[in-house]
Amino acid sequence: MPITSKTHLIGLIGWPVGHSHSPAMHNAAAAALGLDWAYVPLPVRPEALVSALGGLAALGFRGVNVTVPHKETVLPYLDAVYPVAQVIGAANTLVISDGRLVGFNTDWSGFLSDLEEQGVALDGRDCLVLGAGGSARAAAYALLRAGGHVTVLARRPEQAAELVASFAEALPGAPLRAGELGAAAELAAAADVPVIVNATPLGMAGANAGLSPWPDGAPLPPGAFVYDLIYNPPRTPLLAAAEAAGLPCANGLGMLVNQAAESFELWTNRRPDRDVMRRVID
Ligand code: NAP
Repeated sequence: MPITSKTHLIGLIGWPVGHSHSPAMHNAAAAALGLDWAYVPLPVRPEALVSALGGLAALGFRGVNVTVPHKETVLPYLDAVYPVAQVIGAANTLVISDGRLVGFNTDWSGFLSDLEEQGVALDGRDCLVLGAGGSARAAAYALLRAGGHVTVLARRPEQAAELVASFAEALPGAPLRAGELGAAAELAAAADVPVIVNATPLGMAGANAGLSPWPDGAPLPPGAFVYDLIYNPPRTPLLAAAEAAGLPCANGLGMLVNQAAESFELWTNRRPDRDVMRRVID
């Protein structure tokens, strides 16, 4: 569909954004529905975030996704933040209406839908989240919502402790603990672990390629589902180890598609075809 002055604009703010699959997914979903919407990558340096946010409404954008490094820092500049995004401490989706910017988080629900589709049962069991950054916060929230007990492990234990403390204010009594990444295998050996989530960049293409967050040579817990949020490469060393141990596992592509589909629905009020979105990036 040709882009005209009537085209509804959506996009992605981040730095960098050149590598993102989001434009392909959203534009394919809009085309499949015959919608006159266009999704554009918008590289925004950290120091330009506030002026970029002001410009979005002025330019008539209907919404944007927010990615690294803005997901957390964007919150104070929004007109309203949906309570879940506030608890997680990050917004990956902004809806813009009447000049107001409202923040949502679809990472947690995108992750949880994918986990549910994989048939992982959590009820009261001890989930491990490796890493304590933005996506670890979304994954920990999702696992708690699904009834899991969650231990967040970080190379800087104070970062995991901070995550737990900030959740405790919003979710008093939630079964959430903090620990050190190096203790992952020991903890796993002592518990009935339904799922291990890698929310570190270890194993991702680039500087972290070939690395794993799991301690060298330590066995993965039998019966665990291993979920790596990384999708490039599709098979990280952690996923290769899970496969070698005969464990069920998934990379982050399902989460990526689900969070995009939920953002699309927030903006357009139309349910996109997730298969269409997945086909253009798989
Ligand atoms: P982030 O906020 O930077 O957090 C990364 C976490 O990993 C932090 O706890 C960080 O600790 C830790 N970490 C970084 N390098 C490490 C290392 N060498 N050893 C041990 N821990 C290390 O990043 P994020 O946004 O959460 O993203 C994390 C991963 O999830 C990325 O690979 C990203 O691509 C993926 N992701 C996937 C999706 C999806 O839809 N599938 C969505 C979001 C993110 P320090 O603070 O100490 O560095």
